[in-house]
Formats: sequence, C-alpha cells, structure tokens
Amino acid sequence: MASSEFGGGRAAWPRRMVLGLGLALLAAEAAAAAPELRVVNRRTRLVLHLPPGLPWKLAAFTNPARLVLDLPGLSWQGPNRLRGAGVVAHAQRQGAGPRQQLLLSLTGPVAPPQVSQAGRRLVLELRPGPAAGFAAFADGRVLAAAAPPPAGKPLVVLDPGHGGKDPGAIGARGTYEKRITLAAALELKRQLEAGGRCRVVLTRGRDVFIPLGERIEQARRREAALFLSLHADSAPGARGASVYTLSETASDRLAAALAQRENQADRAGGLRLPSVSPEVQRILLSLMRQETRSGADRIARLVVDSLDGQVPLLPNTHRRAGFVVLKAPDVPSALVEMGFLSHPADEAALNRPAHRAKLAKALAEAVHGYLEGRSGAMAGLG
Ligand SMILES: [Zn+2]
Repeated sequence: MASSEFGGGRAAWPRRMVLGLGLALLAAEAAAAAPELRVVNRRTRLVLHLPPGLPWKLAAFTNPARLVLDLPGLSWQGPNRLRGAGVVAHAQRQGAGPRQQLLLSLTGPVAPPQVSQAGRRLVLELRPGPAAGFAAFADGRVLAAAAPPPAGKPLVVLDPGHGGKDPGAIGARGTYEKRITLAAALELKRQLEAGGRCRVVLTRGRDVFIPLGERIEQARRREAALFLSLHADSAPGARGASVYTLSETASDRLAAALAQRENQADRAGGLRLPSVSPEVQRILLSLMRQETRSGADRIARLVVDSLDGQVPLLPNTHRRAGFVVLKAPDVPSALVEMGFLSHPADEAALNRPAHRAKLAKALAEAVHGYLEGRSGAMAGLG
C-alpha cells in the first residue's frame, strides 16, 4: 500500500462543531480533540484523546476487513466521518452514548494492531499484513482494551476547586484559592495513598480550568465512592473551616431532571434505571437519593469531628447549599472550605505546608472513617 495515495493528510476540523454527547450531567462537559488519522513512518496511525477511565476496546472483523473501536460516551470536536489514510479507507463514528463505536474500514488485511495508551492518549498503529494472519485474529474477539482500574479498593475523587482562568478567591495578600486547593488536594492524595485503603484521583492535577460538570462526571464515570471538593472561601470578617453538602431541594430537582434525560437518551453510565414503570423508577431514584444524601451527611459529620480541635472552625460548621459540584445524584459529595482567604490569619495558615498537612491528616481520617462504615451501604442500588 503506497501511503502517498492517501497522502497521510489530516482533515480540517470545524473547531466550533461540538458533536457527541458524552455523559455530561450539566451540559458542561468539554469535548475532546478529534481523532487524528495519518501515515507516519509507513504506518497508519490513529491517535485519540480520551477522558480518564474511558473503557475503550478494539476488535477486528473480516468481510469486509474492518476494525471496530468501542468508545462509550466519548465526545469529540469534529465530524462523524474521518478521511482515510494508509490502510484505513475511511473511519466513521457510529452508534451513540454507551454503544458508540469508531468503525475503521480497511483497504485490505492488516497485521495485528499495535495499541498503546499513555495517559489520555490512545495510539493505534496499523500496517498491511497477510490475509491468513488477519483472518486468524479478525474474529470479533477483543484485541486490546483499556486497562481495568485496580480492583478492590474504593475510589475517592478529590476536586481542587477552580484553576486556570478561574483563580477562585484572592486573599488580602494576593493568595490565589486555586493554588491553595491544588496544594491541599495533592497533600491529601499523598496521605490517602500512603494509608493504602483507597485509590485517589484528582479532577485536576495542575493549573487548568475544568468545568464543574466535568468534575462531577469524572466521579460518576468512575463510580467513585466519594467526591470531596476543596476550597478556601472569602467573606468579610469570617474565619475557620466548614463543610457543605447539597441542600435537599436542589438535590431532588436535579436528580429528577437528570433521570428524565437519562431515560430519554437511553444512556448507560448514568443512573441505569431498569425498564420498569415510572412509579417504580421514582421509588428507585428516591432510594438512591437517600443513600447518596446520607453518605454525604456522614462524610460531613466525620470531617467536622476530625477537624475539630485541629483547625479553627466556622460556627455551624456543616452547612447545606446548592453547589453545582455537589449535584451528582449517585456519588456522595461534600465540599470543604478549608478557611477564609479573606481573613489574614487563615490566609497565612493556608499558605503554610505544615498547616495544609494538618488539614489533610484530619480529612484523611474522615475519609478512612467514611470508607470503613460504607460496606454494603449501597447494596441493591448498583
Ligand atoms: Zn472556591
């Protein structure tokens, strides 16, 4: 196959065109860059940018020769159809939501695909191969797939508030909330991982802007046991740490709207309500909300108990509000305001690594306490 026939060219993607639906909860999901298909060193290379944890898998078929890459729920910017390159005659996105696939129509038999994933980047390399060899593996079985998450330990998603173009609160002496939240989250991650009782993922590990819906979605997609958002507040005169959970009214309204959308679109990865009567769906949803809410209340109590005596606390330390980032209906979520950057003493403390380590130690204790009491809590709702 002469690669010059196809030129290894890249299609031009209309940048504003946002296709796909993903599993966005609040219409705030960022779409990934479009897949790239081109010829590099006589190999046809497909590069995709995947959100963390996306359970992709690859299979091959004969008559006609093709590869099928399952990409459940992936959204990207660009058209459904990619222009061919090398051994790929053309590539077409088909299906939707949990059943979305990228179909690679081949110009002929290929050798077993070379597949590698580094972080978000998935690379497939193809070259022509003998027909007999192709027929031997192109029988629809899974040739490659996303590495399964390390099993057994529950996942805790830590969410350092703000980031990138959004600095969050700015202290009297110029401290950016986004820096404090990231530093604290990294320290908490370190301590939790040292404890060895859970896996930990950050919604952002660097100074980057992530929409709120995407933060929630990361936790939901990975079926996190707990979502903890870290912030440092600003308000005249106030000081001390506090913890927020979602107010009930907001929770109910959002969960109901979400369920409606999920059912309409028939999307998995969402609430996965079985096809039963609306009446039974309402009951199941109500049970799920209760579990999520009681989980959130429990982590909030544990956080307050654990912080008490370690750092100054805001009066009425556990509060409820309609924070968007707490609105996952199926992942218990809490938001910790670690202090007030508007207060000179809090600002100075939050800038000290030793103080953040103390905060993280208290939060890690609360998380461990939460995970211990959790076994079986969600039984019957998975
Ligand atoms: Zn904040």
